[in-house]
Amino acid sequence: MDNPNPPAPSQQPQQLAQHAPVGGSEGLGAYFAQLTGNPFFTAGFGLAALATAARIGQKGLTQGASLLRRRMLVDLEITRHDHAYPWLLLWMTNFHRTQAATQSSSKSGVLSTLIRRINPRLHHLQVSTVQSQTGPAHAAHFSFVPGHGKHILRYGSSFILVDRQREKAFNLSTGEPFETITLTTLYSQRNVFEDIFAEAHKMHQQMQEGKTVIYNAMGPDWTPFGEAKRKRPLDSVILERGVKERIVQDVKAFLTARNWYLDRGIPYRRGYLLYGPPGTGKSSFIQALAGHLDFNIAILNVSQRGLHDDRLSHLLTKIPPRTIVLLEDVDVAFANRRKQDSDGYSGATVTFSGLLNALDGVASAEERIVFLTTNFVERLDEALIRPGRVDMTVRLGEATEYQIGQLWDRFYAEFDGSGEGKTRFMAKVKRLGLTDAVSTAALQGLFLYNKDDVEGAIAMVEGLTAGRGHG
Ligand code: ADP
Repeated sequence: MDNPNPPAPSQQPQQLAQHAPVGGSEGLGAYFAQLTGNPFFTAGFGLAALATAARIGQKGLTQGASLLRRRMLVDLEITRHDHAYPWLLLWMTNFHRTQAATQSSSKSGVLSTLIRRINPRLHHLQVSTVQSQTGPAHAAHFSFVPGHGKHILRYGSSFILVDRQREKAFNLSTGEPFETITLTTLYSQRNVFEDIFAEAHKMHQQMQEGKTVIYNAMGPDWTPFGEAKRKRPLDSVILERGVKERIVQDVKAFLTARNWYLDRGIPYRRGYLLYGPPGTGKSSFIQALAGHLDFNIAILNVSQRGLHDDRLSHLLTKIPPRTIVLLEDVDVAFANRRKQDSDGYSGATVTFSGLLNALDGVASAEERIVFLTTNFVERLDEALIRPGRVDMTVRLGEATEYQIGQLWDRFYAEFDGSGEGKTRFMAKVKRLGLTDAVSTAALQGLFLYNKDDVEGAIAMVEGLTAGRGHG
């Protein structure tokens, strides 16, 4: 009996299976003809072919792009540890400001218009706020620093891709994340990097002009402490006649004698010890001196907890350029040698030998100026007074008649034109036996309290009890 029903489409694969074993080229041709004639197969094959083509195309594009990158682009990476890192950020901040200002007036051009469209300005910013400690409460200075991510800058006729990346790792001592900035530009325009860094350096120098950077020790590194401070004028520190000049002259002579030291193979180092009661201007003078010489200052208190011999030694090997080191309260290291608790702990961790090693160890920075200060010179050991460790020792004592007169002039010259008030004040000071008996800080306190008030200062001078130091 004839089958009245034609084969259903689902039976076709079965037919295929029946033809499959047929051998020979003819058979194979027929087989492919079958394949291509099959709508399911052609759809699948088409998709696969497309996917392969896309993959090849993508790979080709990636390879092409990387080839292009290798051939035509140049990268420059700078890490947060590099001195130039903050300069570059500063440069980018300023760049952003000027770019925003000149945007509307900038020249046209296909590429620049395109860049402006996709990147009208640095569009991911970070705010950096500086607030004055003493200025009015509303006074704050904001600057916009380019944030993390990619930015395109146009510098002259060059386009630069800036990629600021934050790493996952942290600097354990400062808690700051590691960061890098990568600048990319056309190979043919690589010279632009030099110009950018020169400009950034100049900008940084201009910012620091008239200022002293104060470094503190953070873990194993010196870190700028707050914003750079306005230089303290040298003549705002009043020392006994000639003392300031003697020290300044010595430091200047040292600074000009670099070759003399190097030619003789002597480490180019000089040490100064300033001692005397508290509040006599030791730290103030050193800060003013640093400003006068256009140096920065790295301050470390030897009694600081957590400071041990190795760390001190390490810090002295990596003093920032043009920086005077100030080691305060060095007597602590000497006290440490004598007085130890029963458990061996002395209350401080820098030892006498640790201090000496740090000062003259081989690893110590070859070139440096160190100032040591103490209120208790009698606790120091003679071993400290050796060339290279301490070359000059100066006592800054309680205010002499000369210093009291000078300090008076600084505060009251404009209100006491005839000098009559000064005469009365000085006579009273002598009568009370206060010359060479009170600290300059105590006197300054009296004058600050009686700002603009000559009579008030004279009336209150009894309040400065002789021998009371800070008063
Ligand atoms: P020291 O380091 O000797 O303990 P500082 O330099 O810290 O003293 O001085 C404490 C304060 O007293 C500062 O405000 C400083 O301006 C003032 N002062 C102390 N001595 C002098 C001085 N010789 N001339 C001017 N100011 C002084």
